[in-house]
Amino acid sequence: MRAWTFNAIELLSAHTDIYREGSRSVRRSWIPMRALVIHLLVVGISLAAVQQAIAASVAPNRELETILGKLRTNASNDQYRQIDDAVKSSPNLFDQLNRLAASGKLTEIVVLTSAAASNAPKPGPFSAWMTGTSMVFTESLLSQLTKNREYDVVYPDDILPNNTTFVLGHLAFHLNAGKVIAKPGDVSHLNDYIAAMLDQEARAYIQAWNDALNAAVQQNNDKPLTPHQIADLMFNLHYRFAFLKALRQPTDKIQLEQNGVIEENESNANAITTALKSSSLADIQ
Ligand SMILES: [Zn+2]
Repeated sequence: MRAWTFNAIELLSAHTDIYREGSRSVRRSWIPMRALVIHLLVVGISLAAVQQAIAASVAPNRELETILGKLRTNASNDQYRQIDDAVKSSPNLFDQLNRLAASGKLTEIVVLTSAAASNAPKPGPFSAWMTGTSMVFTESLLSQLTKNREYDVVYPDDILPNNTTFVLGHLAFHLNAGKVIAKPGDVSHLNDYIAAMLDQEARAYIQAWNDALNAAVQQNNDKPLTPHQIADLMFNLHYRFAFLKALRQPTDKIQLEQNGVIEENESNANAITTALKSSSLADIQ
């Protein structure tokens, strides 16, 4: 499948600010960048027919059903609904979670109250993380994830991102990949360890984007998104900083397929890694 590097993005870098810190007025200057993203996607589509690979509809297996049943009794109705909807929004995510549940790598999804979260042991300053075979969300993150319009400009056919799908897809990647193990010894091992951690993190971002895109296609009545819908999906995503940086940085640019999919390959993982290195820590592990 064809892919395009966004080589021209840096031409706009003097005029755009794509970081999370951007103020409302600064965000308006994203418009030229959005236009460029759309332009490149349109060029792509004119060159080849769109092939959107859509996984067959799936149902929860017994193990995942048990996990969701337990969540229902332990979380509020709204929290349960938000996670259950997100799981079912993307056949790709559904499939990933079914496999994790069947293999025993995922045994529960937990929502912590703010009080419980402040006392919970966690692997870092995160609001969603894994511990053993559990996925943990804080209630405050879940509520933030429901805000899915970050971009000021509204278009009538916008498909808004499901940020909860994104985070579930991200954590699912980590659970499947397993913990990066540090080898004892010299500094070169430490460097290898950090590189392996960053690589897994980047690939978790890529799976998360692809799951959120897959959910958006479902929401679009199974129709592939148009270039401007793909651009707006990215611009409205809670975790857009990683992707927009990876489009703009001078080297190691990310490549999108014309259907918006980001292939999980070394080059794209490097692009996201470079973007993450210059970003503040995100709220997800
Ligand atoms: Zn992560």
